[in-house]
Amino acid sequence: MALNREWHLLHRLPRTATLEERLDWHLAHAAACGCREMPESIRKELEARGLIEVTPRSLR
Ligand SMILES: [Zn+2]
Repeated sequence: MALNREWHLLHRLPRTATLEERLDWHLAHAAACGCREMPESIRKELEARGLIEVTPRSLR
């Protein structure tokens, strides 16, 4: 999936965002846009909370 410009314009992640805000943002981002991979630290945290499936990629 390519960059979803409209989504990005509507969903700005502030530099001062908390971890909770980052997790929400990345969850929404992964569903709406494929411009970049979820950072490893975010993926691990979402997996730990059971919010995303554990993928083979995350086990590397
Ligand atoms: Zn994106």
